[in-house]
Amino acid sequence: MKLHKAIADINLKALSHNLRVVRKKTGNKNILAVVKADAYGHGAQRVSESLIRNGVSMLGVAFTHEGIALRESGIKTPILVFFDRNNADACIEYNLTPVIYDFNEAKKIQALSKKQKISMPVHIKVDTGMGRVGIVKERAFNEILKISKLANLEPEGIMSHFSDADLQSKNFAIHQQEVFRSLISALKKEGITFKFIHMANSAAVLTMPDAHFNMVRPGIMLYGYGCCEKEELRPVMTLKSRIILLKNVPKGTSISYGRTFITRRKSTIATIPVGYADGYNRKLSNNAEVLIKGRRAPVAGRVCMDTIMADVTDIPGVNYRSEVVLIGTQGNEKITADDIAEKIGTIPYEILTSVGTRVKRVYT
Ligand SMILES: *Cc1c(COP(=O)(O)O)cnc(C)c1O
Repeated sequence: MKLHKAIADINLKALSHNLRVVRKKTGNKNILAVVKADAYGHGAQRVSESLIRNGVSMLGVAFTHEGIALRESGIKTPILVFFDRNNADACIEYNLTPVIYDFNEAKKIQALSKKQKISMPVHIKVDTGMGRVGIVKERAFNEILKISKLANLEPEGIMSHFSDADLQSKNFAIHQQEVFRSLISALKKEGITFKFIHMANSAAVLTMPDAHFNMVRPGIMLYGYGCCEKEELRPVMTLKSRIILLKNVPKGTSISYGRTFITRRKSTIATIPVGYADGYNRKLSNNAEVLIKGRRAPVAGRVCMDTIMADVTDIPGVNYRSEVVLIGTQGNEKITADDIAEKIGTIPYEILTSVGTRVKRVYT
């Protein structure tokens, strides 16, 4: 019995290829591979193992529990936790590296690591224009001076994050980079240096060589997407399924909830066991295509929780169990996460990270 109705095929060769693109762009800088949100929906454990085999220096996750899960799966590579606070206990227990952005947090970590008689590596984050976490740039210099005087704390990294490095116009991104750079040189004059200096997300890896410093933090480009120079990248995920039912219906038959699709001719309608609970967004109702037999079949009617219907009237040779590609390539046709994102007004990040837990990840 085939238990899984939908499969996300994860192509680890494509992942390695994309990592080589990072290397080509950055000339062998340290790579912190971002594997938050279950490696953008691709499965954090297997993706991390593959990236580690290919030599990344560090992994990045959003939250502590993501780092703990990687440790429990046996991964030993340094892991940076971007967003959690008050996580010093877990960071010590699981050997995770916290990102800190205020003095009080630093003091708490210091107290704990003192008790444990260890020196705790941390990365300090500066907000140079993202308006999210990070010490605001005006206070960064003084705050970091204070932090670096704390014993039992080893600020091994300093980092910042771009808000719009994906735009054509780099004015603001360059401004952010200059704020970061001058902070680092001011700190250097005080004798404060860092083993890792990093700012570049995928967009900056691809388009802003001056922002690579000595480590880069690519996420989306590892998975084959990005703002620019896409042709060099290979999508890692194929989302696919199989037809579970084919039916011939007369003209005038309504399909799915709300009866928003009425057949205009005698039609063949396929039911496919993937729905919005699997990450196939309901806004794709009557608004997307899937690939069957290397041809495009329109989604007919509303996307349901567990299923979609597709109009396969014009495709010869379709049968029960024919393969359906929702994202990926089949024959000469291709549907990317960019295509899907554009249809519903979002970004490929959201399409990939929405692929649900019912979808089995298969690694090739
Ligand atoms: C998500 C994230 C990244 C990766 O961004 P991409 O655009 O996917 O390359 C890098 N750094 C931080 C702090 C992030 O949160």
